[in-house]
Amino acid sequence: MTDAVVVGSGPNGLAAALTLARAGLRVEVFEAHERIGGGLRSEPLFDSEVLHDICAAVHPMAPVSPFMKSLALEEHGVRMMRSPAAYGHPLLGRPAAMAWTDLERTCAGLGKDGNRWRALMRPLMEHSSAVVELMLSTQRTLPPMRALTALAPLMPVHSLRLGGRLSTPEGRALFAGVAAHGIGRLPSPTAAAVAFLLGHLAHTTGWPVPEGGSAAIADVMAGQIQALGGRFHTGVRVESLDELPAGRRVTMLDVSPRELARIAPLPARYLRRLSGYRYGPGAAKADFLVEGEIPWTDRRLSQAATVHLAGVRGTAGEVARAETLTAKGLRAEHPYLILVDPAAADPTRAVRGRRPVWAYAHVPNGDTRNPLGTIRAAIEAHAPGFRDTVLAERGVSAAELGAYNTNYVGGDIGSGAMSLRQTLARPVARWNPYRIPLPGTWLCSSATPPGPSVHGMCGHHAAMAALRDLHGRADSADVLAGGDEEASSFGALLGRPPVSPS
Ligand SMILES: Cc1cc2nc3c(=O)[nH]c(=O)nc-3n(C[C@H](O)[C@H](O)[C@H](O)COP(=O)(O)OP(=O)(O)OC[C@H]3O[C@@H](n4cnc5c(N)ncnc54)[C@H](O)[C@@H]3O)c2cc1C
Repeated sequence: MTDAVVVGSGPNGLAAALTLARAGLRVEVFEAHERIGGGLRSEPLFDSEVLHDICAAVHPMAPVSPFMKSLALEEHGVRMMRSPAAYGHPLLGRPAAMAWTDLERTCAGLGKDGNRWRALMRPLMEHSSAVVELMLSTQRTLPPMRALTALAPLMPVHSLRLGGRLSTPEGRALFAGVAAHGIGRLPSPTAAAVAFLLGHLAHTTGWPVPEGGSAAIADVMAGQIQALGGRFHTGVRVESLDELPAGRRVTMLDVSPRELARIAPLPARYLRRLSGYRYGPGAAKADFLVEGEIPWTDRRLSQAATVHLAGVRGTAGEVARAETLTAKGLRAEHPYLILVDPAAADPTRAVRGRRPVWAYAHVPNGDTRNPLGTIRAAIEAHAPGFRDTVLAERGVSAAELGAYNTNYVGGDIGSGAMSLRQTLARPVARWNPYRIPLPGTWLCSSATPPGPSVHGMCGHHAAMAALRDLHGRADSADVLAGGDEEASSFGALLGRPPVSPS
């Protein structure tokens, strides 16, 4: 007899499944792909020994998300590896801008923007736990006072505009490059929030990659779910909720709102509200198998696992123009790119000198163009000879990314635009955004707060909402701690002892 069913095994589906399993529920997970993990898959694309991350590669949230911390990844053998710089940003004819983990080293490289960068980052670093708590919350609780203390001085319009008083090409590019992770118009309040969150983490816990590739994280989650009696069914695309095991108390859906509307018999009123949900720009990705290091003109970029590229010269203005055009559904000739070279942090990723490198460009939603030529040329401009190091390559258009994973509608890897409105009203304006108006049914994908990225908090919050519904109360801290007592009480509620971890 199944208590809870989870559809989709991305980080949020797995987080929901594990939260429910820790509370003593018998969980079954259904996944469309042959392998679990959603955005956390690593596969050998060209060479059987070299693993490429198909989606997520870098995990700034892993050391700070309450759910991810509860996994105790390092105790389960997953070492989180950091490059000396969290990210870099090449500028044509100038030294690259570098965000070293060491704040002072970063400031020293920013000339007269050094003090300004420190003034921007220091308050966030000092109140990091409160800032993270706010950003990873359900967005339905009062912000912690300490977060307001850190964020209030940054809120004036000048701070939201590409780093406010930053004036050097290096300082401005560093800020714009990280703000553009928000995938949308620049500048904007949501882009600034992304820059504050990711920017300060670069100087605290860093932007780590898991040793061996992102699938290692999914494997730990799956192992913990199985140890608590959970079961997985892969290669099963759920076409209708009617196909799921009868008698279940909880149905958790790690799916996009569009897929939700397809598989669930939603009441007309909710369906109408859901139809107002907007998807954002797409990502078009290139995977490369590279011989040796990327021949960056500024060799220091080899010390950053993440590199931001934009425009011709790489300036903040070019980042903003490309992002704003793309958000309007137009094609930028030189789009903003994120490149990841995991071996810069984890040497085990380079096997016999061959390393995986991926890069994705922000493009209009649903774009069908193969991005390979654009991405290769953008890298080549700052790393002459790059194309000669490429042993194998492939391009995946935004449309193809959307077909690979239905959560990435039109290639939107955030499963919904991150506008200010949709940050709060995600997927619709409701006090409990996870609750679907069908008995025992919950949405837990990144189309719910706190939104995209691998932090598992959408899944955890949705599962906690379901447990509160079942039980009248449920304490997140207990469940995150493994919650034996909590598990017993849920087990009692269900009329049987909980499964103990094997
Ligand atoms: C190219 C790329 C690079 C990225 N890089 C990063 C990064 O470096 N760091 C980072 O933090 N984030 C990154 N992300 C974003 C991150 O992957 C997502 O935010 C995250 O995976 C969202 O998790 P999720 O569980 O909500 O959905 P997903 O991970 O998308 O998982 C959803 C799962 O549900 C399954 N599913 C959907 N519908 C059904 C159905 N009807 N039946 C059965 N199964 C179904 C899908 O097959 C999929 O496996 C990246 C994404 C992409 C695409």
